[in-house]
Amino acid sequence: MNWFQNFMMGRHGLDQLGFALMITWFVLAMVGNFTTYLLVILALIPLAFCVFRMFSRNQYRRAKENDAFLKVWRPIPAWFRRVKNRLKGMKTHRYYKCPNCKNTLRVPKGKGKICITCPVCRTEFIKKT
Ligand SMILES: [Zn+2]
Repeated sequence: MNWFQNFMMGRHGLDQLGFALMITWFVLAMVGNFTTYLLVILALIPLAFCVFRMFSRNQYRRAKENDAFLKVWRPIPAWFRRVKNRLKGMKTHRYYKCPNCKNTLRVPKGKGKICITCPVCRTEFIKKT
């Protein structure tokens, strides 16, 4: 095991992008297994890139690639969480956009006509809930 530790010294290893590439490879290979073998061959591209990145000594470039990936990836789960929370609150709350700053505001349902104050820009507007 010592030789492997020495071998991996100074190499990039597995990060979030590497993990995503492995999942891409796995999904493509599985789908290709049941459809066309062209996909299985195409799946080797993300796998080869993943292996190349793991053993790469250019840590700076690999970290930059990972940052670029995370910049694209991070908003996706956050968006799903927001949609899920909004669907959960549909029965008890209503959602309005602030006419001034476009911030989404959540107000309780069934209170009649109320004056809503945006907590961000303090704009007041009247809506029926
Ligand atoms: Zn506002």
